[in-house]
Amino acid sequence: MRIPRPLAVVTAAAVASLVACGGGVHGTPGGSGARDPYFPKAGNGGYDVGHYALDLAYDPGTHQLSGTATITARATQDLSAFNLDLKGLDVEKVTVEGHGARFNRAGQELTVRPPVELHDGRTFRVAVRYSGTPVTITDPDGSEEGWLRTADGALALGQPTGSMAWFPGNHHPSDKATYDLAVTVPQGLGAVSNGEPAGERTARGRTTYTWRTTEPMASYLATVAIGDWDVHRSATRDGLPVYTAVDPGQAQASRKLPDTIAEVLTWAQEHFGPYPFSSSGAIVDRPEDADYALETQNRPVFAGAPDTVLLVHELAHQWYGNSVSPKTWRDMWLNEGFATYAEWLWQEDHGGDTAQETFDALYAGHYYDGEDANDSVWAFPPADPPDAAHISASPVYQRGAMVLHKIRRTVGDDGFRTLMRGWASAHRHGNADTEDFTAYVERTAPDEDFSVIWEDWLYGEGRPDRP
Ligand SMILES: [Zn+2]
Repeated sequence: MRIPRPLAVVTAAAVASLVACGGGVHGTPGGSGARDPYFPKAGNGGYDVGHYALDLAYDPGTHQLSGTATITARATQDLSAFNLDLKGLDVEKVTVEGHGARFNRAGQELTVRPPVELHDGRTFRVAVRYSGTPVTITDPDGSEEGWLRTADGALALGQPTGSMAWFPGNHHPSDKATYDLAVTVPQGLGAVSNGEPAGERTARGRTTYTWRTTEPMASYLATVAIGDWDVHRSATRDGLPVYTAVDPGQAQASRKLPDTIAEVLTWAQEHFGPYPFSSSGAIVDRPEDADYALETQNRPVFAGAPDTVLLVHELAHQWYGNSVSPKTWRDMWLNEGFATYAEWLWQEDHGGDTAQETFDALYAGHYYDGEDANDSVWAFPPADPPDAAHISASPVYQRGAMVLHKIRRTVGDDGFRTLMRGWASAHRHGNADTEDFTAYVERTAPDEDFSVIWEDWLYGEGRPDRP
């Protein structure tokens, strides 16, 4: 729940024509984007969402999704119109504060003209009723997200822009919010989401599952997984609830998963500080249901039972990415460099390569089997991906982790642990960017000089001359 930076008013032609027609409310249109360097239409300006209440129904047989999204937001300017992001689906009705509102659509922008005054600072509710066939979105890097059909249901994955395929919202990581999600499915199917279960009821052959997320969440981390699930509830030694939902075909391979999650979280808290959310777990779908794992909040999604290192990566994101979220998609290395470094730390602590050995192998170019893969680590600076197709490319992960290792070598192991814990604490449930991070590091270790790390490793082109 962060207030977006002040926005230049980006007025779409459609919005301008609505505003000019007179008889409307005071104010100016909110921006149609959150000024992201890679996804300029993602997110919107002029308001800050506090809460999403999503009441959905999905039938895998007909592949139809219907629902009402009730969004509670606060105006950050006098709003004559504002946008939500929604891709595909048919909008049937929009209300603002209970009054029918005019709206129009252009691409992923759903523009709403409020029938009541929305002055700067006012909290308001907008409800959108919609239905249709939800779309799968192909990312600039070729991966698939949005609403994915699976053999027995569906899986919603949102990084970076997939969540607009299943609910309207302010779909940019800078605007975090709490969620209530209710999803109704044919009786016999299950539905799992973020947060904690908050009820289940069956009537007339359909079952409604309710999930509640009380800590702020970026919308790209929202998920709903519909299908046949083996659901298991356990707890860590500290009493943190662990909910796992496993496709029956992955049950045997996942039988140790709840215990492994507890073990990883205990280890991770030593390195990263207190776990930031009120439950954990995992969703394990079939290997063919998705091409990748995603750190969906509270319980990451895996395509097939994860190995421990992959589990470490996605659980580390709960601190770095999910609690401390990027301000824009340029800051992805603050997610992926950290989660990758968590893998290195885990291996170092469990009899595998030390982080130094991993760093050395990457620097020498014999970490991967292929030369191209080894060279790709140096393709661009981790803090400045060239375009939207590269926000999840190798330098963001591997070279991002190398930046952290350079910092660790500068401040020492104890100083580094303090720094990792302090960073997670300083921006807990918030947003941060690369400049926030470098300033934080410099404040934490004022006697050290990090300028070469920033210039060569974080922002520099090509492989630095010296390891
Ligand atoms: Zn990751």
